[in-house]
Amino acid sequence: MDSRFPYSPAEVAKVKMVQFGILSPDEIRQMSVVEIQHSETTERGKPKPFGLSDPRLGTIDRKMKCETCMANMAECPGHFGHLELAKPMFHIGFMKTVLSVMRCVCFNCSKILADEDDHKFKQAQRIKHPKLRLRKVLDASKNRNKCEGGDDIEVGDEDTEEPVKKNRGGCGAQQPKISIEGMKMVAEYKAQRKKNDDQEQLPEPVERKQQLTAERVLSVLKRISDEDCILLGLDPQYARPDWMILQVLPIPPPPDDLTHQLAMIIRQNEDLRKHERNGAPAHVIAEFAQLLQFHIATYFDNELPGQPRATQRSGRPIKSICSRLKAKEGRIRGNLMGKRVDFSARTVITPDPTINIDQLGVPWSIALNLTYPETVTPYNIERLKELVEYGPHPPPGKTGAKYIIREDGQRLDLRYLKKSSDHHLELGYKASSL
Ligand SMILES: [Zn+2]
Ligand SMILES: [Zn+2]
Repeated sequence: MDSRFPYSPAEVAKVKMVQFGILSPDEIRQMSVVEIQHSETTERGKPKPFGLSDPRLGTIDRKMKCETCMANMAECPGHFGHLELAKPMFHIGFMKTVLSVMRCVCFNCSKILADEDDHKFKQAQRIKHPKLRLRKVLDASKNRNKCEGGDDIEVGDEDTEEPVKKNRGGCGAQQPKISIEGMKMVAEYKAQRKKNDDQEQLPEPVERKQQLTAERVLSVLKRISDEDCILLGLDPQYARPDWMILQVLPIPPPPDDLTHQLAMIIRQNEDLRKHERNGAPAHVIAEFAQLLQFHIATYFDNELPGQPRATQRSGRPIKSICSRLKAKEGRIRGNLMGKRVDFSARTVITPDPTINIDQLGVPWSIALNLTYPETVTPYNIERLKELVEYGPHPPPGKTGAKYIIREDGQRLDLRYLKKSSDHHLELGYKASSL
């Protein structure tokens, strides 16, 4: 038994399946052991309750026990808390998906813009892969600048080619063009084309270009029906589109190099809430919301293109969740892929002033280890015989061979074949030569 882990009476269960999804705000609250309310970590030398080092999150003190699981520092795995955000915020990792979903649904009533009878839309529904399906639905929603419906519209029946009256049930609203600008989302209304017929003119939008708050986007995403989610390629049970907007932030257990940035987020969140409560003017609130958005975005990823880096007071860029995953020393390349093994070596293979321009130098000790199995043919048998004769320790300036591989796959190690009668080669054999 591994002595690093103490005995646990918990039942051992087998993993039957793994389901990936997005945590809903309620799930984040449910898995949280404490709602964090203060950016301070300590108070009079002790962990401050409801602060970033609340003893329920785990312990970093050898003498103290975790207040959630009662285990000591070595045994407690740490527990997540949560922060209620003063306003919904964009999750930088979901920006593009949110944009795609926003472009697929009506800005006013959240109904899918594409026509169900549209050829492309029907094609999309045959696609199982969720990401590809969303892309196809997006393709079918392009050039739809109005939420069709309300009135009966005439569509051609695919089978009979006869016109059929159909009501899509849309709201008729004109659709803005939605795009991402940095960490912001923008909705832009195209100028209405003047129509000569006596069609009713839709009211001209007040502002032609407006910034979309995460709050506004959230309200659109929330209204998307579960049925439409499935049509878009999202399983509403595991990944509702509105969960891609942050309303609650999970707070990881301390200590952590993210703690500094989290303290900043909590402070900005407090400020925003205070200004809102005091009825500050809208542009002030928007500014504070933007500041909080910046700190949340850089907490996830501090290498966003076109964005300034969030730095510590010393000027050193803060570490983000993203960098601990993807960097060379990150979880994937550093801890999962980069396992070290015994009996392996690596070296630099390089050009050198003492060798020809079309040659590369390999250290002798490495070269003696690298072999390539070559099939014996009438054309190379003489050369291979010589290599086999030299064996695994060839004289300087010569190369040799390490194994003879017979036609049945049997491998003869030349280190132990001292008699030259054993060095017999036949066509079809392979010689593992240096
Ligand atoms: Zn614990
Ligand atoms: Zn609509």
